[in-house]
Order: sequence, then structure tokens, then C-alpha cells
Amino acid sequence: MYYKSTRNSGVNVTSAQAIAQGISKDGGLFVPSELPKITMEDITALGEKSYAERALFVFSKYLTDFTEAEIRYCVENAYNGKNFDTENIAELAHLFDGTYMLELWHGPTCAFKDMALQILPFLLTTSAKKQNLGKKIVILVATSGDTGKAALEGFKDVEDTQILVFYPRDGVSAMQKKQMTTQEGSNVGVCAIEGNFDDAQNGVKAIFTNEEIADRLDKAGMMFSSANSINWGRLAPQIVYYISTYAQLVKDGEIKAGEKINIVVPTGNFGNILAGYYAKKMGIPVNKLICASNANNVLTDFISTGIYDRNRPFHTTISPSMDILISSNLERLLYHLCGEDDAQIREWFGKLAETGRYEVTDEVKKLLSEEFYAGCCDDAETKKCIGEIFDKYSYTCDTHTAVAVKVYEDYRKATGDTTRTVIASTASPFKFSGSVLSALGEEVTGDEFDLVGKLSDKSGMTIPASLAGLKDKEIRFTQTVDKQNMKDYVFKALGI
Ligand SMILES: *Cc1c(COP(=O)(O)O)cnc(C)c1O
Repeated sequence: MYYKSTRNSGVNVTSAQAIAQGISKDGGLFVPSELPKITMEDITALGEKSYAERALFVFSKYLTDFTEAEIRYCVENAYNGKNFDTENIAELAHLFDGTYMLELWHGPTCAFKDMALQILPFLLTTSAKKQNLGKKIVILVATSGDTGKAALEGFKDVEDTQILVFYPRDGVSAMQKKQMTTQEGSNVGVCAIEGNFDDAQNGVKAIFTNEEIADRLDKAGMMFSSANSINWGRLAPQIVYYISTYAQLVKDGEIKAGEKINIVVPTGNFGNILAGYYAKKMGIPVNKLICASNANNVLTDFISTGIYDRNRPFHTTISPSMDILISSNLERLLYHLCGEDDAQIREWFGKLAETGRYEVTDEVKKLLSEEFYAGCCDDAETKKCIGEIFDKYSYTCDTHTAVAVKVYEDYRKATGDTTRTVIASTASPFKFSGSVLSALGEEVTGDEFDLVGKLSDKSGMTIPASLAGLKDKEIRFTQTVDKQNMKDYVFKALGI
């Protein structure tokens, strides 16, 4: 097993190299040279195992250059009852007959990003050690909220790493800001920038690709790496929970081994749903992968027409982690669907960079419509859906998850398909208390902690300890810089 680049099939690196580098030098994303197969015997055996053991099984198929002891070290440090508030790590809740919510938000920051970012630091440092890079790894993150906090929690106090997070000063929720500015750990830095998320993202990219800065880091014994979902080390951990869920459903007698399921995913950067596609290609019986978008419905249009066109208004919605017009991980899917034709990928993504638009071939369109169903809904429909789920099933879900439930209901009406279905639930409702309370017809007044308290009263759910505990935490990071000065902040924080 080795990894090649979506923009150059001739690239041949180990998983440790792919993870430490993050992105290929040609601008392509790393993909595995083959998709390992799992059998129904494997599934039955996995049903008896813990989440960490299931992760060990899946990783050993992809990280073939790691020893078993190395993988064990990574999974045991990540997936334990200390970091997650449930032994099961990913919790499976019944919504209604044959429909299950896969709750991926029981980690320290209450969003599904924890599933990958709790393990990525261990995968990264192990990858660096294996190559004798002998360098401290510096992670730079631009965040619109969820990724920054999840990365901070993952990397805090991890040896030989340092993490610096930039967020738009006025572009994150009060709770998200509190989560980041109170971050503990001796190797972390958090800085607001005067500007929006794009400014933060562009600033980080400019630092990342500047050779002079890379030289300066190199001389100081450091190197940059990436913690966002273009890194294979973030994608592989997401395959685990789809395989684990299938094994659990079989073990619980909810489905028979071999029976197909649907998977519904609220989608932004296309990372989470792509992991579902990989699980399917490995042998998990999946009928449809259902891609749910909010008003930023570029993927809905793409999957139904084969035309990707980002030239459209950007909407700020109540499901902000899906407010995205360029879904980077789509490049990996298209590479597989077009027969791993790197020239074709260079052409399409060249067009995307130049004009914001490309159209895939009829053959790829056909494959897309066989594998995927896509739908979208706006904020009003999302809120209505939160209210209906609460009334009908006494289940409180967050705004992102509600988009998935609504699109699934539309799918079921349109097709009559009653295949058992797993819906990815990507955030705790407490992370978006204001929007959820308003959807439930409650008044939205007070600060972020008042809202969390009100939502707890209304829903009967316990406030996650990590959010409740923020109230008394000291604010550690108050600095704001101009986007031009991000570089100086980085030098100062690294002491170089
Ligand atoms: C990041 C995120 C998403 C989107 O996931 P992708 O992998 O980018 O498609 C959905 N919901 C929540 C809560 C998120 O934080």
C-alpha cells in the first residue's frame, strides 16, 4: 500500500510521508493506491471489539508502514473514556424505526471533528519519528470555529508539536470564541485577526507556501504540517466509524450481515461523506450515500447535473460549518470515479481555479448518480425540522444534523426507499444553543451560558462538561492582529 497524488499518479509515498506532508507538492491530495477489502467475517469479529480495537483493524490496512505497536499507541491515546464522554466513542441512537443517529460529538469539543483530531497528533508525530525528521511540527490552522478548537484540544501538550490558530475576530460564535481563548496547554497559541474567514485562510496559506519562512523554520528545527481535512491522517479515522457502526448494527441484531444501509451526511468540505464512500468500497454494504447541504448547495447541483459552479452568492447560515463553496475532498472522489486519470483532474481543477466552474464527463455523471443522492434545505426548513424531531421523537438535534434529517425525509418521500439508514449527527445541540432554542420556539436571551442552561431545561439533556466548565476558565488569549501581521505573530510565537 502506498499513496499517490490526485494530480500525479506517479507519486509514490508511504502513509507516514503522506501524513507528515499533508498535501502533495503538485497541489494534489494523497489517495491510497488501493482500497483494502473487509469481509463479513471481519465485520462479525469487529462487533465484539472496542472502538479502539476496531480503529486498530482499519488503520492496519491503510498504514502498512506503521508497526502494530505504533498504531496501538495512536488509537489507545485517542479513543478512550478520558477524552470521550462515552465508552462507545461514537454513540448510536435510534431515531425512528430503522433510522439511527450516529452521534459523532461525544469528544472534548462536542463536534465530529474530534473523531479525527483526537488521533491526528499521534499519527503525525509517529509519522515524523518514523522518517527521523527530527523536527518539531508546527500546525497552523485558520478556523471558522469547530476545526480550530478540535485541533487545539488534540495537539495540546503533545510532545514535539506546536499549534497556532487564527480565527476571524467577529466571525465565530460566542461559545466558539470562549472555547478557543481559554485553551489550556503549553504549546498552543490563539490569535484573532481583523478580517473574515477567507482572510485568515489566505494568510495561513501564504505563510505555509512561503519558502523564506520554511527556511527559517528549517534552521530552527521545525516544519509546518496541516490539520485540515486534506490530510489523509484526518480522513482515515473517519472511515473507522462507518465500519464500526455497521459492525455494531449487525451485533445488535438491527441488520443482518450483508444487508444494505443508507448513509446520510451533512456536508461541507466533503470529507465526512467521502469516508463513507471509502467504507463502501472496502465492503460495507451501502445502498445510497446521501449528501445533505444547506443553502450553499453547490454539491446538490453538482451531483444532479455534473456541473460544479462556485459562481453563486455565499450564504451565512445557522449551520456555519457547512458554509462552503469549494469542497476540497471532492477531488479525491473524482480521481477514483474517472479511473485515476490525473490529467483529467488537473484539467478540471485548473478550470475551477481559473473560472470557478467545470463539468465532468457523462460517465462520471452516471457513476455519481448511482452512488449518491443529494439534497439541500434552507434555514427555515432546518429550524422546522428541529422542531418536528423534538415533537415527534423527543430528540434534540443541532442545526447541521437537522439539515441531514430533512434531506433524508425528502429522499424517502421521493423514492419510497425504506432501507435502514444511518444519519451522521455532527455536533452537540449545545454548541448551537441559540439557533436550536429559537427552532424550539424559545426566547433567545442572555449570554452563551444562559442559553446552554435553557437548552438543558428544555431538552432534558445534560450540558457537556467541557462546555459547562468554560464559564470559570481564565481567558488566556486576547491578541488581535491585522492580516498583514500574521507572519510576525507566527515568528514571535515560535521564538524564531
Ligand atoms: C465540519 C462540519 C461539517 C462538514 O463536514 P465535512 O467533512 O467538511 O463535509 C458538518 N457539521 C459540523 C458540525 C461540522 O463541524
